[in-house]
Amino acid sequence: MKKNSEEKISLQNRKKEIIILIISIIALLVFICVFPPVIYIIVIGWFIYEYFYFKSDKFLKIKDSIKENTKKCNELNAHIEELKKAYINIKQIDYGQANYVDNSKYNYKRPELKRNKETNNIYNCSLTVCKNAQNQPFKYICKYFNIKPNEETLEKFENILNDFSAAEQGKQLLKNERDYILKSISEQIPLLIIKFRRNKLIKKLGFDKIDFSQLYFPKYTFRYVSAGGNSSMSCDIVFNIENLDRFINYLSESIKFRKSVAGQRALMTSSLREKIKRRDNYTCQKCGLSIKDEPNLLLEIDHIIPLSKNGLTTEDNLQTLCWRCNRTKGSKILVDK
Ligand SMILES: [Zn+2]
Repeated sequence: MKKNSEEKISLQNRKKEIIILIISIIALLVFICVFPPVIYIIVIGWFIYEYFYFKSDKFLKIKDSIKENTKKCNELNAHIEELKKAYINIKQIDYGQANYVDNSKYNYKRPELKRNKETNNIYNCSLTVCKNAQNQPFKYICKYFNIKPNEETLEKFENILNDFSAAEQGKQLLKNERDYILKSISEQIPLLIIKFRRNKLIKKLGFDKIDFSQLYFPKYTFRYVSAGGNSSMSCDIVFNIENLDRFINYLSESIKFRKSVAGQRALMTSSLREKIKRRDNYTCQKCGLSIKDEPNLLLEIDHIIPLSKNGLTTEDNLQTLCWRCNRTKGSKILVDK
């Protein structure tokens, strides 16, 4: 009962705050129409208010009260950034480095040659290859980027998919958790700050920025440029989660497995990841934490016997671990080596 009446009072206070806000905005608008320079005064006034608010004891106390939660969020954020490196960590062939000098007269310079240095994931090809790559991207990627369709490659791409899927899910879960924390303290923070300065508030509370961009997905490009540089065409293949899933299936189709492996091997695809989590009841098999305890808990799929120790991707060699347990397991294996 007491809690209910408290909630009512705080709701009434909020309503009052909103009504006062609306009246002040209308009054201000009228005032601005009559006396335009007032807008500068308001803007400067706002920044001064904001500056002192974020330095006030009241705000610092709120920041302190959620310190532990912010720390946990930032740890998960750092972990997600690590997961995104799954592709970069794979050893690629080092083709060396060459210098490029364009000695042509000014009018004949070919700027497109300069861009070649960007990455070794660009293949310059004839118009026919470029067109064909559009129709059968995986086949042409294997052929022209020297990706051999064998068990080793399949394993590498399965690992990339596993890490990237966890990163994508992690970003969303982390955002949900952050929103939940913000909601829990929103009553204590002025409405104007929440409405108009949300990003600054998040930063001032100590949350690291969540990088939602998907630019970390590997991209392969086939590019045709005519000799004169006047005509060009390119075909990009981005290995996002959907394409990775399809590529894994493609590789598996084109590999002739060793007989012993073929019968028992499962493919680490998005659907298998979900299946294992469901089987394990969305519970970490090491510490017993589940999404019932922490709705925004990031769960990952782990090989019980690691691939490096001849473990296989089979359902009974896979388990669900929370990201914290999976991370400690990973570092232990590194120490073992
Ligand atoms: Zn755990």
